[in-house]
Amino acid sequence: MPPEPADAFLPGTVTLVGAGPGDPELLTLKAVRAIGAATVLLVDDLVNDAVLVHAAPGARIVHVGKRGGCKSTPQAFIEKLMVMAAREGEVVVRLKGGDPFVFGRGGEEVEHLHSQGITVQVVNGITAGLGGLTALGVPLTHREHAHGVVFVTGHAKPGDSGTDWPALAATVRDARLTLVIYMGVSGAAHIQQQLLTGLPASTPLAIIQHATLPHQRHAVSTLGDLVATLAREQLGSPAVIVVGDVVLGIAAAARPRIATRSA
Ligand code: SAH
Repeated sequence: MPPEPADAFLPGTVTLVGAGPGDPELLTLKAVRAIGAATVLLVDDLVNDAVLVHAAPGARIVHVGKRGGCKSTPQAFIEKLMVMAAREGEVVVRLKGGDPFVFGRGGEEVEHLHSQGITVQVVNGITAGLGGLTALGVPLTHREHAHGVVFVTGHAKPGDSGTDWPALAATVRDARLTLVIYMGVSGAAHIQQQLLTGLPASTPLAIIQHATLPHQRHAVSTLGDLVATLAREQLGSPAVIVVGDVVLGIAAAARPRIATRSA
């Protein structure tokens, strides 16, 4: 008998699986195997239901996200569901948008499961900040434009003072980094005003909504015009805001497609 793979998806365990930003073909092979092995799937907001074609026919699928306008299931309840299902001997898969460990509360869930003595493993997914820019044909880093990249949340935990935007603006400017802001749409006015303390209004910026999905939309603008662009283009959540010179490549990357269409 062939040896069991080290990361078999066993009864009584939980696997957090990154479902990627939207395009179901961006799943990893390991994610597909985990989804197929699950007897219970807890599906988060922003996970494209198309990935569920890989689920076994008898698997129980529980949506725990906000889709359809319902209020999201409280985090504590989701954690309880995972623990209960694992204790019942289910093969539990928790499907999360993007990567489970990038603003996905994956860290909190792993800590909780460990504290309950439950074996947990994590399968990476493509995070929206990476998939979003790639969907426009430009890189997050570039030897001539950006020496690195910062993923930051625009939405702090209640009670937390949140991101130090002026410090970040200065670092991004001095170290020539690409800044990728998740959950930044609702706080865009504050973020724009704070980033302008350290970055010029002319700093290039892109907003990408529903990245990698057929209804993906984007706009290229500048930091000084962030809020006006969101309103004018009617771009909303879920979107990533990407700040930095790499964005200048979007127009160039898009040119051949425009040329083909008008030809
Ligand atoms: N774990 C996820 C992020 C969860 S936080 C990941 O790694 O991608 C939710 C935020 O992610 C959204 O507010 C938005 O900023 C971003 N996001 C998720 N899916 C997206 C998509 N398809 N297009 C653009 N942004 C997306």
